[in-house]
Amino acid sequence: MKTQIRFIFVTGGVVSSLGKGIAASSLGLLLKERGFRVTLQKLDPYLNVDPGTMSPFQHGEVFVTDDGAETDLDLGHYERFTDVSLGRKNSVSAGQIYDEIINRERKGDYLGKTVQVIPHVTDEIKRRMIDTAEEGNAEVSIIEIGGTVGDIESLPFLEAIRQLRLELGRNQTFFVHVTLVPLVRAAKELKTKPTQHSVKELREIGIQPDVLLCRCETAIPQEVRSKIALFCNVPANAVIATPDVRSIYEVPLVLHRGGLDVLALEGLALGPGTPLDLSRWESTVRAILEPEDKVRIAVCGKYTHLQDAYKSILEAFVHAGAANGVQVEVKWIESTELETREPEDIFDRVDGVLVPGGFGERGIEGMIRAIRYARMHGVPFFGICLGLHCASIEIARHLCNLEHANSTEFDPETPHPVIDLMPDQVTKHQKGGTMRLGAYPCDLQAGSRAREAYGDERIRERHRHRWEFNDDYRSAFEEAGVRFTGICPDNGLVEILELESHPWFLAVQFHPELKSRPERPHPIFRSFVAAALRFHRGRPIDGASDRGVSVSDTGNAPSEPAGGSGDDADVRDSGVGGATHV
Ligand code: GLN
Repeated sequence: MKTQIRFIFVTGGVVSSLGKGIAASSLGLLLKERGFRVTLQKLDPYLNVDPGTMSPFQHGEVFVTDDGAETDLDLGHYERFTDVSLGRKNSVSAGQIYDEIINRERKGDYLGKTVQVIPHVTDEIKRRMIDTAEEGNAEVSIIEIGGTVGDIESLPFLEAIRQLRLELGRNQTFFVHVTLVPLVRAAKELKTKPTQHSVKELREIGIQPDVLLCRCETAIPQEVRSKIALFCNVPANAVIATPDVRSIYEVPLVLHRGGLDVLALEGLALGPGTPLDLSRWESTVRAILEPEDKVRIAVCGKYTHLQDAYKSILEAFVHAGAANGVQVEVKWIESTELETREPEDIFDRVDGVLVPGGFGERGIEGMIRAIRYARMHGVPFFGICLGLHCASIEIARHLCNLEHANSTEFDPETPHPVIDLMPDQVTKHQKGGTMRLGAYPCDLQAGSRAREAYGDERIRERHRHRWEFNDDYRSAFEEAGVRFTGICPDNGLVEILELESHPWFLAVQFHPELKSRPERPHPIFRSFVAAALRFHRGRPIDGASDRGVSVSDTGNAPSEPAGGSGDDADVRDSGVGGATHV
């Protein structure tokens, strides 16, 4: 296989969750800032075709691209750090590779041959790496291999990149290995053995890393780095310490100080590129690390035990917080808890409420209670996808007098299906890749909060859902004070709704969090955090949050579920700008 493109491979050793994705993204940013055309690609060893069918508890967030692919959350990091829009081909799983090969075999494409991991699987992996980089017109392609070296599943991927070095040569391939250097506190010692073993394992399969990124709680002294270099067969300056930092956005700065970009360019026989100017990035990082104030936002979701399930939302809060000069402290609220506890107990000292996306019935009534509380107490409310569905149910039941209104996702027999399955979804039975996925246009109504936030008439946002607002209920909602301020011009679907008389009540059918960037915070997140800050500053000193009912209930609202205040409630805090890892 021949190509002029340079490849940087990022592998991981010792343990998972060392931040290979952040390292790959950071290197992407550094090379892009030096004027190189960079693309990034993730290779995942699992057999699912994509993570779209996996539980958020298993896989974390599903990151949706403009072209409608359901991908790994690392693609979110790639997009945020390098400010590009990636696509379906930038996320490859072993499932896709095998699917393609088996289909070819059934068609008879390999007639006469035995189909094998080497060369058929490895060839297909290499083809996808080269094609994606060429189609993206990249000079450098950074490829992250998911999993940890030593896993059975990742072997074909490692074998493919070993072959690629042989075929393309040293100057076209560069290997970065991310490892862990643990601190054994009792002995007050940094341990190099896990790194040595991990590199040994790589070398056994024929890969000699060019650079080691050593994750550590602390700085790594020169003599420890020299020892690692000696045992791992790399030059001393190729052992770069990446100590824990407060924000992931500091990592490019840490890696640049460690010399990673220069080593990579030298290894790839590329010149230094244009002079590197990281001053804008540095000022964004400063804004993240040095907030002047703090707002507390309650995220009422159903996957709050695994914060990776809401990765892009958390990052969007970091960006929007920095733009508003505040730290966004997230108060995680497991929505099922809201079904048995009084919202007053939970939302005390909360400056904003967000109900994020999700699937299935569990916790829905809790989300509806949270929204009702925010609506009645003038607390800024932001609903995303499922959040729009729950807001619609809440408004239907309590403002439009539609008793037992629901989404047919949760109650197929509801007398008032204010949220219903999209007609083209009714006939779809296959689960994978069949939702309304990817970017769709949306026209914003003049004078609306959304239009003011975006400063644009037409936007494009990414979707991932099967249900939508049921148009039959539009006039009932409008009479109750709802404005439908974003409509898809392609099909007339409701994309945004706002409550006119509330200080900030807005729900969207799409996922705005996927398009937020540190240097270009998402307009709606920015506006929501600004509203939360206004609410925070207007709050009485004692912390009471009741500022009067801004939109009153009418009609025969169903009685609230019985209250109670269990001490074991899963209500946990975490500061978004707090300690994060590379
Ligand atoms: N479960 C809802 C649907 O499929 C919402 C999906 C979401 O929040 N992403 O329409």
